[in-house]
Parts: sequence; structure tokens; C-alpha cells
Amino acid sequence: MDCSMCDKSIRGGSPIVVFTASLFQADGRWTEHIDTDSTCSMDCLNELNEFSVGDTECSESEEGAKCDRCDRMFDAGYTIGLGWAKPTSQKKGWHKMITTKTYCSHGCIAQELADETSALNMDVPKKKPSTTKKKAPARKSGSSGTKKKTTRRKTT
Ligand SMILES: [Zn+2]
Ligand SMILES: [Zn+2]
Repeated sequence: MDCSMCDKSIRGGSPIVVFTASLFQADGRWTEHIDTDSTCSMDCLNELNEFSVGDTECSESEEGAKCDRCDRMFDAGYTIGLGWAKPTSQKKGWHKMITTKTYCSHGCIAQELADETSALNMDVPKKKPSTTKKKAPARKSGSSGTKKKTTRRKTT
């Protein structure tokens, strides 16, 4: 698979950004992707679409998906997923997504991308080889204040 913008080949396990223009049903789930672009980075996606803050055109509706930026409801909008590309040998299935966000308009996406604290601006950590090892259960230990750093943030 190649980046829609810079034609760099996106190999399995490397970061991928999937942008869709989609229709949503009343409960907020997408029903159809009208358009899908895959890029190697958020920068490439931004370059490809030239998101502009002033572009607030939105298909507002009473029910549907809710914008992760401005909380408007809409029945046609956009999703941006950030994650790891699936291997090219893998025909079925989907990329492994770390986060997927939904937006009402290009304007909200532009705002999101300008926001350094946005989950979409995170550095995608290297994907571990897909050997499925079971994690040892986390133990509660009142040991000396060693903090584990995690790059992944959980949204509540
Ligand atoms: Zn690219
Ligand atoms: Zn919005």
C-alpha cells in the first residue's frame, strides 16, 4: 500500500493514517465510507486535503455521529484513524488502530491537527512483533516510586 500523498510505501507494522468521508446512522455508527485515503503520516494527510480552519461546512443533524472537536451532531462527516498498517500479505481484516476520531468538518480537523495535545499528533510507537505473549497480570506492589512511562494515553 502506498501513501496517497507522497507515494511512500506503507509497510505492515508501520504507522498509517486512514481518513474517510463517511455517512453515519442515528446511533453514530458509520454506514458507508464514501471516500478513503491512507497516508503515511498526519502531515501527508494534511497536505493531501489542505484542511482549513475556516471550512466549517457540516451536515448537521439531530442524531448521528458527534464531532470529537466541537460536539456538533451530523450524519455525514469524517473519520481519522491512526495506527499500524496491516501486513500486505494480510488480505482480510483491517489495520490495527490505536485511535479513531470523528469530525463534522474540515475546519474541526484543522483545529485538531493544530492542537499539539491531540491524540492524533502522538508519535506512533513501534509495533511489537506479533508474537502474542500473554502479559503477566499487573501486580500491586508498594515498591519504591518507580514510574513507568507509557506513550499511549487512555481517554476516559
Ligand atoms: Zn506520505
Ligand atoms: Zn466539529
